[in-house]
Amino acid sequence: MISLMRLLAFGTLSPATIFAASNTLIISIILGWICTRNLSYWKKWTYALFLNNLFTIIIFHINQGSKGTIPSFIYLIMMTLGGIFTAYLTQFLIKAKTHFQMIEKAATFVFLTELNNHRTFDEAFNSLLLEAKDKNEALTLMIIDIDHFKKVNDTYGHPNGDMVLKQLGELLKDASRSFDIVSRIGGEEFAILLYDCPHKHALTIGERIRMAVRNQEFMLNEGKAIQITVSVGVATYPDTNENIKEEADKALYKAKSYGRNLVCSNQSA
Ligand code: GH3
Ligand code: MG
Ligand code: MG
Repeated sequence: MISLMRLLAFGTLSPATIFAASNTLIISIILGWICTRNLSYWKKWTYALFLNNLFTIIIFHINQGSKGTIPSFIYLIMMTLGGIFTAYLTQFLIKAKTHFQMIEKAATFVFLTELNNHRTFDEAFNSLLLEAKDKNEALTLMIIDIDHFKKVNDTYGHPNGDMVLKQLGELLKDASRSFDIVSRIGGEEFAILLYDCPHKHALTIGERIRMAVRNQEFMLNEGKAIQITVSVGVATYPDTNENIKEEADKALYKAKSYGRNLVCSNQSA
């Protein structure tokens, strides 16, 4: 567009307008090529500004001879300052956009399942573990992971997968006690913190949840219903060491390796 403007906006075609228009066209092609190279952001800007200034100053001199020295000097300063300013501004906008997308995603997470996110879960976990140690009480962590959830996404699409996650979040809240802390700690991974709950009782609750999921019909967008299963890993402080996150993970891994749709404890063999 700038090339065309240089060519046509001054009334008549002359060697000067043709040089100016060709220069813009060549610069845009070279700069487009630089953009496709695997270079750092600042290297791209440096090369682009350098080449743009060099080519344009050459054209000034071809068109105006020694009269072009002062205009080309002014051009050089304006273009360099303007280029650096634009580079910083663009970088700022890219960062702002990335942060905005992160915040939007975090908000959607909460909106989707209406459960605590990982950060809230961590805070609750740390304070409950301290309390359990202080009062010498039990704290159980249950990690629940949907079996073969990738297949649900692959078969019915991501939006339907989201619907299943939302309904599972509701089921987990209904199936646990009002003061248990239910969180979504990963894509299709949930955690329940059960304060003052001995291991044996937690296993019963885990089994109840597993059965409830097994028997639930999960509604999809098109009015179709599907069934899913979950694997559950359970670990309890102080029955096990303090690392109940790791222990619950190990128990979950055991449930997966024993064939899924199971509740496993870190304690039994
Ligand atoms: P496994 O029984 O071993 O747990 O198998 P899996 O397929 O459930 O586990 P895997 O870790 O292979 O895949 C997890 C899938 O969860 C992949 C990913 O697309 C899906 N997922 C993660 N977060 C979301 C989400 O927010 N929405 C949807 N629809 N899917 C998600
Ligand atoms: Mg899974
Ligand atoms: Mg998983």
